[in-house]
Amino acid sequence: MNYSSSRPVRKPKKTLSWSNTRITLLEYCERKYFLNYYTFALKQDYPELWSETLLLKWLKSIEMRVWEKSHFLLSDYLHALKKWEITEEKIEALKDNMRMEMKADFDYSKERDYTDRDDFFGKFWLSEHFYQEDADSLLEPAIEKVCGNLDRFIASPWNEKVQDYFNSAKFVYVEHPRNPDFESMKVDIGKIWLKDVSVLASPDFWVVFSDTDFLILDWKSGKEEVLDNSVSDQLKVYALKTLLKKWLTSLDWINIEAYEVYLDSMNSYGGILKQEDIDWIIEKIKNDVEEQKKLLVEWNAYRNQPVDMVMFRKTTSDKKCEHCTLRDVCQKLN
Ligand code: SF4
Repeated sequence: MNYSSSRPVRKPKKTLSWSNTRITLLEYCERKYFLNYYTFALKQDYPELWSETLLLKWLKSIEMRVWEKSHFLLSDYLHALKKWEITEEKIEALKDNMRMEMKADFDYSKERDYTDRDDFFGKFWLSEHFYQEDADSLLEPAIEKVCGNLDRFIASPWNEKVQDYFNSAKFVYVEHPRNPDFESMKVDIGKIWLKDVSVLASPDFWVVFSDTDFLILDWKSGKEEVLDNSVSDQLKVYALKTLLKKWLTSLDWINIEAYEVYLDSMNSYGGILKQEDIDWIIEKIKNDVEEQKKLLVEWNAYRNQPVDMVMFRKTTSDKKCEHCTLRDVCQKLN
């Protein structure tokens, strides 16, 4: 069956947006990008596949859940630390709560009726359960990894450093990953002349030492990306956001230091931002937006209406498809 369509689709509510996650997905697989960000385009002609895609978009593998829960637990800990509420008992209580949360989520996911599409904004916990894979043996190691990530953080020099920041810095922002604030993620990009696009970025930990000195930290879990003496694109975007808050694009007088901290190893990568980093990321965002526009009707970022689905190329990598949470819909669409 050919599921492609050239019929007009429902007008989307939002203008085109750029984020590091979004552009990474576009580079990973255009079909996956389409299914994730333009799901509404399926509704008119393929309501069944539209509702299944809505469900599959919320699924995550247990490995992705480890990353998410590690962020939750570390954020819970840092917020308590910021309020000087941390004791040995409190740390154990935070970990116990996380163990219970993950077990409850797992049971819910395992028992859930995935054919029920009326309730798709619920906790669609594991792609393994949707695809009827045996995940029982994965739960305990996942819980231990999440709790172990917090233990490693507490045992590392970063624990003392963040306490110093809470003590001495002018302002410290700790993210709330359980309740993301999308408004505060918006980057004011008028200064870089991208008026019809919205840019989203929010660091995990942001320290303001003074009007001219900043530190950005981003917690990572999973495969380590070893960057020699350089700062990742993600950190460059956060640094740009910091500058744009001051209506600047130049680092004159401004000092920004930024690191990605891997919770599995507590290795960190990053350094002091240079002007070439800022200039490079501005150009990258502009180029990425042009690439995204090529997949929009009339290249119109404001309307943000996708071209026909067949124009979104599927990856040729079987490895990527093997664990793709959207593979069921993708195969049906073919
Ligand atoms: S199954 Fe493969 S081709 Fe299809 S969306 Fe996923 S990664 Fe892309």
